[in-house]
Amino acid sequence: MTDERTRFETLAVHGGEPRPAAGGSVVYPLFQSTVFEADPGSTVEEVPYSRFGTNPSQRHLHRRLAALEGAEAAVATASGMGALTTALHSVLSTGDHLIAAGDFYGGTGQFLAEHAARLGWGCDLVDPCNPATWREALRPNTKAILTETITNPLIRVGDLAGVARFAREHGLTSLIDNTLATPVVFRPHRVGFDLVCHSATKALNGHSDITAGAVTGSRERIAQVAAVLAAYGAALDPHAAFLLSRGLKTLALRVRQQNANAQAVAELLAGHAAVAHVSYPGLPGHPDHERAAALLDGFGSVLTFQPCGGSQAVEVLLKSLRLPYSAQSLGGAESLVTRLRLPEAAQGLSGDVVRFSAGIEAAEDLVEDFARALGE
Ligand SMILES: *Cc1c(COP(=O)(O)O)cnc(C)c1O
Repeated sequence: MTDERTRFETLAVHGGEPRPAAGGSVVYPLFQSTVFEADPGSTVEEVPYSRFGTNPSQRHLHRRLAALEGAEAAVATASGMGALTTALHSVLSTGDHLIAAGDFYGGTGQFLAEHAARLGWGCDLVDPCNPATWREALRPNTKAILTETITNPLIRVGDLAGVARFAREHGLTSLIDNTLATPVVFRPHRVGFDLVCHSATKALNGHSDITAGAVTGSRERIAQVAAVLAAYGAALDPHAAFLLSRGLKTLALRVRQQNANAQAVAELLAGHAAVAHVSYPGLPGHPDHERAAALLDGFGSVLTFQPCGGSQAVEVLLKSLRLPYSAQSLGGAESLVTRLRLPEAAQGLSGDVVRFSAGIEAAEDLVEDFARALGE
């Protein structure tokens, strides 16, 4: 029903859906069963089992995820960290070396800091915007390079096509965490990334009610990821798979509204006397604005800003805002604000900052709320 020319809005609704519909059911059914009857002659692999990701509701979600990222195959994992760690385990063995773009999601940083050495993986951190740092980090045993489409919390957009090209030139596997962008904004396989990872807990599901992850790639690479996933037992539960497939239907609508809301709030903040700095690639003054405009379809739903007046000003602001919840996440229907402390100054930001994840509310209401909370 869909092909490579199908527009994203259509793909979000129809991508990976069986036609004719399964049993005539427009919504693909939930197979809430861990046990399936089998022919006495069938192999273990042929009988559906949730830990193998072969329950029909999981397989259905895998087809949907692959369609949305424009990949041959996908697997769903129990969380975003499950996606990243499983993808890395499928590529790296003891003695191998990984190049990772710094300024990554906290959980990724923590995993690499606490477990890479124990697993025998070397790891060097580089600047995703500066190719010279990737070349310097390259070693004979380097096997992979990992980056994020839009970094968090500094909100940078690296030279993504350059990273994928660098990986190809040096025989590395390229991995990218596409959580903050979503395939609405960027489809990394198009510029040559091998494995795309997501925290589907965020915008892919979009309703702040399940924890999930996804990895997409070629059939061959995803078979390797799926084998690790089955061995470690980190597949997504079929019930959560059913909910995630439902969430994906509205992905394009939600993300476009979130992007528009983030842009409106960014513009208010950038022109406000009580705000010291805003990092959002949709602002012309952002160092990656031109690259993001050329590479991405929209600038994302997350921005980080620094109110004037340090930690006390942050506290007053978070208490004064009425619409956004003060909470740790992003990508949901509800706008969220998260208080963060940057260990060192970067990207015009330092000390206590606020990350704003735009929800799908009316932009005017969010702008009015911020204007009032900041003191007009
Ligand atoms: C949240 C997040 C993760 C981890 O996802 P979980 O579902 O919480 O495990 C990974 N990467 C990014 C960019 C995230 O925002």
